[in-house]
Amino acid sequence: MENFRNLSLAAIALVLMTVYGAEARKKNPGTVKAKTTVATAEEDHYDVSYVKIDLSATNLSTAISGSSTTKARVVNAAGLSEYYFELSNQLTIDSAFFNGQPATVLSVAPFVNKIELASSLPANSAFEVTVYYHGAPTGGTGFFTNGILNGSSGTPPVQVTHTVSAAYHSRDWFPCKQSLTDKIDSADVWITVPTGLKVAGNGLLKDVTSVDAARNRFEWSTRYPVDYYLLSFAVAPYTEYNYFMHFTGSNDSMLVQNYIYDDPAILLNHQDELDSIALMINHFSALFGKYPYHEEKVGVCLAPLGGGMENQTMVSVGSLDATLIAHELSHQWWGNHVTCATIKDMWLNEGWATYCEHLFLEEFRGASAAFTFRNTVFNQVMANVGGTVEVSDTANELRVYDGRLTYYKGAAVAHMLRFYINDDSVFFPMLRDYHDTYAFGNASTADLMTLANQASGMALDTFFKQWIYKEGYPTYTAKWAQSGSQVVVKLSHTTSKPTSVPLFKMPLEIKLKSPQGDTVIRIYNDQSGQLYSFTWNRPMNGLQIDPDNHIVNKQGAITNDPTLDVPETGKLRPAVYPNPTRDAWYLRHIPAGSTVRLQDMSGRTLKTFYSDTETLVVPAADMAAGNYILTISHRNDPPVSLHLSKN
Ligand SMILES: [Zn+2]
Repeated sequence: MENFRNLSLAAIALVLMTVYGAEARKKNPGTVKAKTTVATAEEDHYDVSYVKIDLSATNLSTAISGSSTTKARVVNAAGLSEYYFELSNQLTIDSAFFNGQPATVLSVAPFVNKIELASSLPANSAFEVTVYYHGAPTGGTGFFTNGILNGSSGTPPVQVTHTVSAAYHSRDWFPCKQSLTDKIDSADVWITVPTGLKVAGNGLLKDVTSVDAARNRFEWSTRYPVDYYLLSFAVAPYTEYNYFMHFTGSNDSMLVQNYIYDDPAILLNHQDELDSIALMINHFSALFGKYPYHEEKVGVCLAPLGGGMENQTMVSVGSLDATLIAHELSHQWWGNHVTCATIKDMWLNEGWATYCEHLFLEEFRGASAAFTFRNTVFNQVMANVGGTVEVSDTANELRVYDGRLTYYKGAAVAHMLRFYINDDSVFFPMLRDYHDTYAFGNASTADLMTLANQASGMALDTFFKQWIYKEGYPTYTAKWAQSGSQVVVKLSHTTSKPTSVPLFKMPLEIKLKSPQGDTVIRIYNDQSGQLYSFTWNRPMNGLQIDPDNHIVNKQGAITNDPTLDVPETGKLRPAVYPNPTRDAWYLRHIPAGSTVRLQDMSGRTLKTFYSDTETLVVPAADMAAGNYILTISHRNDPPVSLHLSKN
């Protein structure tokens, strides 16, 4: 979802579905041992397989009435003697049936209800509960206030009733188990509305049935697993703008079904954005795997929202802004297909969806648009010195969906992970692997890190620790000197939150500037006051740190210090040749008794040598082509790092 940027309001929609025929896809349990997100532990005594919601509604208020049926299976080893579920006490329960028998519902807490069973059900028993209820929940003024909202947007204003259930607000409009990890295997949402109105919803619109002269029932159905907070509907006097898209490289096509306000100016001004949905779906399919819900549909509905909500296969948006649409569509992978395992991991939904705005811009608007977006994101992150990407207070939805930390810093981590791995032919297949591995299930930050480590061969634990669980960012300063063809750079940094991270360990790029042409060199920085030595024949007249803005950082003073190599490197004035090499690097002028460490660009130590003479041969024949860092340490002298290349 997007709730924090100022967007003009637009209109409504959402929907529901009916499932026929084939068995729903199996949920992927993943490896998650997640902390539960339900209100009471007893809700985890059963596993939900199916939900049918059958309500009457209008676009004039939040008033709803009807029923909800839940099919589930007992997973508690000791059986089930009480059935717990969540429903707001703003809704009145009219009656309830457990396995077809009338049942009494007891209120346990403001949002928690239970039915005491006449006799306990053993483990693995299937059961079915239907609750009839009605009400008009009030107090909803936007995100995180109420799961069902009524408002208006557009010119002239269009009144809409719609649901926005993240993170804990499904219970405001239907009886539910609010568990991130217990996906509903399939669902039907039927909404009966006065004639003249339309209902947008999840999955396929199986039928529109005339109930009587004044009312139609919209019967939406999905056979894909869906999390509680992604079921939705929206009611308004919509008009539809629909077309079929084709998936790149296949004959498959899919319905793109949009519910917009009946205002000619909307198509006049925004048909391009609506037509771009097909391009976005194909692009994200290429990056992360085929659109997960390709047997159903995708669509956008307008609703009076200051942002958007990624309701499954039918996203709600407050405006037809292309990057907002890209954000919500990307959630169909990041959040819907693979859902964060716990609320603490919300960046896996929102940080990645925000980074998908970058990926959209990069593909369709070019590198400079992506650079500008990245610059904005990084500056937002650095608007405050601290804060973790991991959600520190899961009860506070404003923290769960904090724009600076969950969205922007999360997106920054996604980009820095890509930069760290430094190979899109590794990075994007790793993301596809993530979606294959945890398809229709859940994943944690640790799950993503494990896949990233495996795919890259790197040890990214420190990176994840420093940027997800710890706080702050680095401010780099540098001194440089050139003597003949020898360049020495001394890189230092302070951090904005030294009590959390005193020293960031990161790869970064530096640009050596010359009137004869610049060069960009990738280095790895894991020490304070680290010295780097390069052979470069052009007359150097400047230095720039992170010239393409790939990592969150500020830049301090960068100075030419001609005294640098003599007093600071002392007798450590090593030379290396040939560089790049094919077979071996030959080191000269290293102090006898040096320890020499060879690292890859992730900082992983590959080999360590001890040299008791002033020369050393570092074999390279069996090493992969690429860049390496060689660090020479001698007693208490500052270590010197050399940038090596292997052909
Ligand atoms: Zn989002």
